[in-house]
Amino acid sequence: MKNLLSVQEQLMSGKTDLKDLSEKYIEKIKARNSEINAFVHFNEEEVRSDAAKIQKKINDGKAGELAGVIVGVKDVICERGKKVTCASKILHNFTSVYDATVIKKLKEQDALLIGRTNLDEFAMGSSTENSFFGPSKNPVNTKHVTGGSSGGSAAVVAADLCDVSLGSDTGGSIRQPASYCGVVGMKPTYSRVSRYGLVAYASSFDCIGPFAKNVTDTALLLKHIAGKDEMDNSSADAKVDDYVAAVQKDEGKLKIGVPKEYFGEGLDDEVRTIVEDQLKTLETQNVELVPVTLPHMKYGIATYYILATAEASSNLARYDGIRYGHRADVNEVEEELGAERQALKQELKGASAAEVEEEMASVDSPLIRLYKKSRTEGFGTEVKRRILLGTYVLSAGYYDAYYAKAQKVRRLIKQDFVDAFREVDVIVSPTAPTTAFKLGENLDDPLQMYLNDVYTISANLAGICGISVPAGTHSNGLPVGIQFMGNTFCETDILRAARRVEANSSA
Ligand code: GLN
Repeated sequence: MKNLLSVQEQLMSGKTDLKDLSEKYIEKIKARNSEINAFVHFNEEEVRSDAAKIQKKINDGKAGELAGVIVGVKDVICERGKKVTCASKILHNFTSVYDATVIKKLKEQDALLIGRTNLDEFAMGSSTENSFFGPSKNPVNTKHVTGGSSGGSAAVVAADLCDVSLGSDTGGSIRQPASYCGVVGMKPTYSRVSRYGLVAYASSFDCIGPFAKNVTDTALLLKHIAGKDEMDNSSADAKVDDYVAAVQKDEGKLKIGVPKEYFGEGLDDEVRTIVEDQLKTLETQNVELVPVTLPHMKYGIATYYILATAEASSNLARYDGIRYGHRADVNEVEEELGAERQALKQELKGASAAEVEEEMASVDSPLIRLYKKSRTEGFGTEVKRRILLGTYVLSAGYYDAYYAKAQKVRRLIKQDFVDAFREVDVIVSPTAPTTAFKLGENLDDPLQMYLNDVYTISANLAGICGISVPAGTHSNGLPVGIQFMGNTFCETDILRAARRVEANSSA
């Protein structure tokens, strides 16, 4: 498969130009996007003018290392002067005044940012159906979901509406949609990539990462977004490897751990067979398969949905309709409160003055009602559910039983990985238990929706890295992904494993 390095070579030698390349994508977006609803903001004139500026730099021999690379950006990552909606009504009118660090880095290297991609509201979901803009559709079969929450970012790459894209992964939101749409998606180690300018969902889990059509392009994008950033104190000062070179010169043995817990109940039979067949092929390629155990994995979903919702309830407190975000109509608030006071007065006819005063005090103040109404109108159902859950697990009386306990279990899950990585380089699993489900199929069943994350969330709980790479096609015609998880800052190992699968699959 052609990778971006060869496209860049053609550009630098003048065999193609960026105007033609971007025009090809503009046409494709215009033809296909209304069907799959993957880009939510796209301004063709801006794209043309950016392409011309970058082309000029190429002509002058001054282009950066990502010149010619055309990138979609999840609408949760801040881009200066662009709307950043997080697919939420509450931010439908919010324009960022600064660039996230990853955006700054891409621009410095002359990547062309072509548009903003759809997602589940505030990245909460596994299907991109919880979006203010309506669901994205899987380019492979538009009756099916893209996965989520970075469904738009997966779909724009799968439908070839751009070269690569950025997503965010808090519990699987890059890897699961990559698997559902048949592209490569990587969640780097927590802290590997700066979170500055990423709208926070659950800050101790959130990671920005790449989607691409192949492993080499994934490595290229990762190389340029990784690294310490003084704007994000949690970003790590660990050395950034040359991921592209590591993939291109992949040699030597890989020890791959196979955890039985990831191949148990709930896994679709064909998905299992596809993953196991890949493992058999890998065994012939200087790979040793080693059984490992991750005994606390079964607590992953419960632990994640306690901790992530707790963090979300705190992070989303800032959307109050006063400082920014959707604000309810102030006159409506006044009218509502007036009517409530009037009704109470009627009800309390004959009551003592003290009683009336006490009851009247139970009516919200205008400010409190404005907060409530703005948030009620601005947030969608799933986001409200998470804020409620998160507030509950953090409340006095429940804090120890839920939040504090989940923190301890998180530690045990992390320890499982520490122990396993003493024995192996990489751990393998299916990325998701099934292929992309039908639109609407899980919408009324949040628990079923959460179960989609069963194989991906442990990596976020442990802070390690993970990648999903296409492993085959199910008899239903939909793609199946295989996941490799690597130790902290060992992105090179999972890229190498993924590259071997890619080579086998395209052979
Ligand atoms: N599906 C998970 C959730 O709904 C993960 C989301 C994500 O990684 N942003 O929380």
